[in-house]
Amino acid sequence: MRFENKVAIVTGGAGGIGGATVEALAAEGAKVVIADFADAAQKFSDELNANGLDTFFVKTDVTNEESIKNMVSQTVEKYGKVDLLVANAGIGLDAPIHELPFEHWKKTLSINLDGVFLADKYVIEQMLKQGTGGAIVNTGSIHGLVGKEGIIAYGASKGGVKLLTQSLGATYAKEGIRVNSVNPGYIDTPLLQQLPKEIYDQLVALHPIGRLGKAEEVAKTILFLLSDDASFFAGASLVMDGGYTAV
Ligand code: NDP
Repeated sequence: MRFENKVAIVTGGAGGIGGATVEALAAEGAKVVIADFADAAQKFSDELNANGLDTFFVKTDVTNEESIKNMVSQTVEKYGKVDLLVANAGIGLDAPIHELPFEHWKKTLSINLDGVFLADKYVIEQMLKQGTGGAIVNTGSIHGLVGKEGIIAYGASKGGVKLLTQSLGATYAKEGIRVNSVNPGYIDTPLLQQLPKEIYDQLVALHPIGRLGKAEEVAKTILFLLSDDASFFAGASLVMDGGYTAV
């Protein structure tokens, strides 16, 4: 039980990578706030709690400063503190730039980058107040490291997450707050399973390991970065992509 007596917040925690992370953290003893826009998170939280885990849904829009402040204050009210944050909420709304509406660019940057900025900002403020350090993992992507045809707003947002993480890691390491990012290759979510087989197979072929990743694998990597096993990690961009960026 690596996270006994720890309090964690996971944004975008209702499903996908965030949902797997919530489950894994709670199974290892953490009290977990599921901060998500989706009301489905309430049912998810109820199911986990019925299995003896301790989670709490706070409806949150990561693009809204007041909503993020409320996320932190409700966490402190319910559990007394914040030790861990996974700033994970993100969307993939993209197109080649000549076809990409400015509104889609702004929405992507708003959720994927402003959302990480706001969650990190107010959680770090709380951690500094507590004076007991903490650990933060921001969810980046291989497309914060390498480009791809048609990956425009998404890549720009994830590149921003990578460098924001590096500077936050450098700024707060001496306060005992470790900020790192996980940068996954393509993960086998229901969304990708709905792609035409030909496109799905093309994505698989980009990963030398011969398959896409699993949400549970990303969750395990996030838990490693949050844990004391990663005590010398600060500002790192940990890539887990089945070899996508290795070739
Ligand atoms: P999902 O769509 O499964 O989960 C994202 C969650 O974030 C959803 O529950 C969604 O709610 C929520 N969300 C969306 N907008 C907001 C908002 N404004 N405020 C709060 N919550 C919001 O995504 P994944 O699990 O696939 O992705 C999670 C993260 O991992 C993202 O940052 C993504 O970019 C990154 N990633 C994903 C990869 C993949 O292949 N899946 C690969 C690499 C990185 P709702 O359902 O209501 O929209």
